[in-house]
Amino acid sequence: MLDRVKDTFDLHPERIIADTAYGSGPILGWLVDRNIAPHIPVIDKPARTDGTWSRVDFEWDAENDQYVCPEGQSLKQFHRNYSDSNRGPDGKGVAKYRELKLTCQACPSKAKC
Ligand code: SF4
Repeated sequence: MLDRVKDTFDLHPERIIADTAYGSGPILGWLVDRNIAPHIPVIDKPARTDGTWSRVDFEWDAENDQYVCPEGQSLKQFHRNYSDSNRGPDGKGVAKYRELKLTCQACPSKAKC
């Protein structure tokens, strides 16, 4: 729709207002990449209904840039120190925090995690 409006009327919005249905990370990132300020509620799905843990069960540790899982393990973006400063969020506004595979394989709570 934005491309059609630009092609037809040569209009490029500075901001967009929309409902939560448009509040996914990829859509918000797409708008920001085009210098359009999204005024859109972010889709937030913190609670799980399938018996597995929700995001709120993982504690954020800002000082160490990590989450702590219910089993007390540290979930980090990187488990090594990299000299490459380009490593980090994937450019789509997503940063993944994980524990080592070996640790999770041996975890007694893996089925709930
Ligand atoms: S599987 Fe266990 S150790 Fe791994 S993140 Fe989940 S709770 Fe923590």
